[in-house]
Amino acid sequence: MTAGNAHRSIYLDNAATTPCDPRVVEAMLPYFTEKFGNPGSRNHRYGWEAEEGVDTARGQVAALLGADEKEIIFTSGATESNNIAIKGAAYMYEKAPAGSGKSRGHIISSIIEHKAVLDPCKRLQKEGFDVTFLEPPKDGIFTAEMVKAALRPDTILVSLMWANNEIGTINEIPRIGALCHEHDVIFHTDATQWAGKMPVDVERDNIDLLSMSGHKIYGPKGIGALYVRRRKPRVRLQALVDGGGQERGFRPGTLNVTGIVGLGKAAEIAKAEMDRDGTRLLALRRKLEDSVTSRLDHCAINGHREKRLPHITNISFGFVEGESLMMACKDIAVSSGSACTSASLEPSYVLKGLGVGDDLAHSSLRLSLGRFTREADVDYAAEQIVQAVKKLRELSPLYDMHNEGIDLSKVEWGHH
Ligand SMILES: *Cc1c(COP(=O)(O)O)cnc(C)c1O
Repeated sequence: MTAGNAHRSIYLDNAATTPCDPRVVEAMLPYFTEKFGNPGSRNHRYGWEAEEGVDTARGQVAALLGADEKEIIFTSGATESNNIAIKGAAYMYEKAPAGSGKSRGHIISSIIEHKAVLDPCKRLQKEGFDVTFLEPPKDGIFTAEMVKAALRPDTILVSLMWANNEIGTINEIPRIGALCHEHDVIFHTDATQWAGKMPVDVERDNIDLLSMSGHKIYGPKGIGALYVRRRKPRVRLQALVDGGGQERGFRPGTLNVTGIVGLGKAAEIAKAEMDRDGTRLLALRRKLEDSVTSRLDHCAINGHREKRLPHITNISFGFVEGESLMMACKDIAVSSGSACTSASLEPSYVLKGLGVGDDLAHSSLRLSLGRFTREADVDYAAEQIVQAVKKLRELSPLYDMHNEGIDLSKVEWGHH
């Protein structure tokens, strides 16, 4: 164990996934072996025990969101929650049937959503819905006014994330929710980076549909939840999968009991420790940002300076090349500004969406801290980054020219 650990890099990619909290694992274990029953089995103790585990977890998730237990649907993760919410609502509330030649209805989302929102919206667009993808201002934050300007009489759904997974910026969710309710528009939020880290009250915050995921909050992978409002208004969804009627028919199939129990425990811990974790992580994130930006020129923090999650920062470094920066920082596990998901080297569409140029987007790092990040990890990471950037700049003719006062925008580059 220890020999391997000595060579492992420092994990600062908690926005991609988090380790399971050991308390979560402990809660799950009995459900693999002794309490292995199918919660749908109503005739014997095995089924009842499993059902009890699921009921407890549903209560824990509901408590985290200020929701009623009946409003929680367990899914395989935020991707599935987003699909059920967005497509399910669009098909249920469509203004005209498919193939009628008329618009099936208008949906508002944004160009900096997670792919798990963008792609369902794009599919709906192909199927005859009109989708407005809002463009963010430079600080990355969507306000109620921006949504209001995009509303139309035929708008049926607004889907905007609570906090952005690449830059951590926080949208005006309660006000956007209020606006949607005023206009009888269904409001969905992908709260995967927010729920479990920051307080949610679906009543106060005017939310109709909310997606969250286990593995972003120290629970297991492959489990998530969708909150579906049951009153004022009662939100209806067209199911995407047919089967045994579980989860009110929205998500049929035998329940992932171990995962559900783990998500429940993770939600319970998150609720109890949210304030303490948040305060600690905010201080660590600021320390990290300060120690990097005070020792390097030409670096910029992407997104609004204050309205951000405590645990995510995204920094662009001028005069370094993205690939080399990642290579030089290999002792820390972070995300780069290049979309590695697509296996291409496209710069991040989120940073591009904010107006960050391709070069700077490539040479950006997303650092995301978590419950198990220690102060020493952050100090080490800052040191690594500063040394790496300095070293790369020493080799950079552009940085030399810039320091000699040459205006690079006026340089005529030769062809090669
Ligand atoms: C991680 C993430 C998702 C995807 O969640 P899965 O549970 O892995 O499907 C969706 N949206 C956001 C904002 C995320 O950060």
